Amino acid sequence: MPSLSELYQNVILEHNRSPRNFRPMPNADRHADGHNPLCGDQLTVWVRMDGGVLEDVSFQGSGCAISRASASLMTSMVKGKTREEATRLFERFHRLVTGTLPPDQAETLGKLAVFSGVSQFPIRVKCASLSWHTLRAALDEGIKTTT
Ligand code: ZN
Repeated sequence: MPSLSELYQNVILEHNRSPRNFRPMPNADRHADGHNPLCGDQLTVWVRMDGGVLEDVSFQGSGCAISRASASLMTSMVKGKTREEATRLFERFHRLVTGTLPPDQAETLGKLAVFSGVSQFPIRVKCASLSWHTLRAALDEGIKTTT
């Protein structure tokens, strides 16, 4: 079993220190709030769509290093992708953090593969997947902001 210090790898620490896309988005099409009561993580995810593409994605909130780093990497990874691509990425990411992704598919996740160690810590799975669940909520039933 890996130690916690191994879990908090450099990529995670770095994204926690300076998260990407960490800002509110006044001109977002939709947003959703996510909350992980087990750890106390909470965040808001904003999305602006252009046709079927996630043109811009941002988040803000407070929580542990895993939840912040995951949200930072999530926003970076899904930006510019179609809704279907983002959904497929979430499915693979979820299998990664729950330990059910075949090892040969981990590479297709790029930097998200740093979260593979999370599968050893069930309580951290919700931290790592909170931003993804919130993104999906924003896409599926997010509050539409009309301008
Ligand atoms: Zn957490």
